[in-house]
Amino acid sequence: MPKPNSKCSFCGRSSVDVRMLIAGLGNGAFICDECAEQANTIVKENLKFQQSQDVKFEKIPKPIEIKKFLDLYVIGQENAKKTLSVAVYNHYKRLTQNIEDDVEIEKSNIIMVGATGTGKTLLAKTVARLLEVPFAIVDATVLTEAGYVGEDIESILTRLLQAADYDVEKAQRGIVFIDEIDKIARKGDNPSITRDVSGEGVQQGLLKLLEGSIVNVPPQGGRKHPDQKMIAVDTKNILFICGGAFDGIEQRIAHRLNTKVMGYAASKLQSTVDMNNLMQYITPKDLKSFGLIPEIIGRLPLLCYLEQLDRNALRSILTEPKNSIIRQYIKMFKMDNVDLTFNEDVLDYIVDTAIEFKLGARGLRSIVESIMLDIMFETPSTKKKNVVITLEYAKERLKNTNWDRMREA
Ligand code: ADP
Repeated sequence: MPKPNSKCSFCGRSSVDVRMLIAGLGNGAFICDECAEQANTIVKENLKFQQSQDVKFEKIPKPIEIKKFLDLYVIGQENAKKTLSVAVYNHYKRLTQNIEDDVEIEKSNIIMVGATGTGKTLLAKTVARLLEVPFAIVDATVLTEAGYVGEDIESILTRLLQAADYDVEKAQRGIVFIDEIDKIARKGDNPSITRDVSGEGVQQGLLKLLEGSIVNVPPQGGRKHPDQKMIAVDTKNILFICGGAFDGIEQRIAHRLNTKVMGYAASKLQSTVDMNNLMQYITPKDLKSFGLIPEIIGRLPLLCYLEQLDRNALRSILTEPKNSIIRQYIKMFKMDNVDLTFNEDVLDYIVDTAIEFKLGARGLRSIVESIMLDIMFETPSTKKKNVVITLEYAKERLKNTNWDRMREA
């Protein structure tokens, strides 16, 4: 039992100044209620921190396993899948590295170049699904320099914090996918004398995040506000994956490869260069000539490309991925106890339509939606147990489609 003159061994206050004083086991030590509560909080926080640091290297999937997982969801894109698999594996290595020696594994952020709808976002999302780390997608086009209309660069991290339920430790190991990075390219290869609000300034801001620094993040996003309490986030271990279509970059690659040279030299070069897939020759130089600043390029050391999806790829996308569009429809009908089948020629027709109207992979879903709308509307109220989609039916459904509208969607 504490005596009236007993004191808390932590804060030094006497028993009369506190609500409760708890005695140690015969060692003359005491702790007051407030210090006990504070100690409890510290223990909890610490445990949480330790758990979040608890990545076991042995449990990390190997690059080949990561790639196999990506194969379940993403068709083709071998180069990008391989690059991502290695990058993710190394990301984990970095998280579990022994920092006692002087060799610190630095992170390798990634840049994916490929036309819109070739699977950049899908790849990033699939990686996040495998890793079970917080993942945020942000669009570079909404970012502006501080002081201009738009979102501050730091709002990228707000998204990640939100994805991590504001668990800062977790967010600090997450992945951010920055889409449309090409839209913040400066307008020319040369640094401008006048300020380039939309491009270079944003790239400079982004640099700070990519290279790893402690950034004050507004928890609710938007503009920084003097009264808003900031959360400090260390970006050292956050993996950044950037993606962009870089429209027209193939011409730049071609130019660099000198394919414009006329005559004998050109024909010799063209015989060794696959002109149909120039993207495979992309180098950081091409990104620079497109208008990314060298510092940003330096912080995105892993450059990979995505190929245009050909007919075979589109056909596979329709049915093969684990959550392919067709599988999703079959599942939806199953919930109404209806067996749904698409005739093979319907699937070919869907792909042909997507190619004819230049709708790409994204268009496949809109085409299927259009074919299926009426049947989805009616079937749940009927006693049908089987639905077969025939070519004739599909053609009839698409007869009056406004393709232009679909393309915009
Ligand atoms: P991007 O980010 O390159 O513009 P997305 O990843 O958003 O393209 O792709 C749009 C949609 O097209 C995806 O949701 C997916 O259904 C489909 N898709 C695109 N590329 C592929 C692919 N390689 N494999 C499987 N599906 C794909």
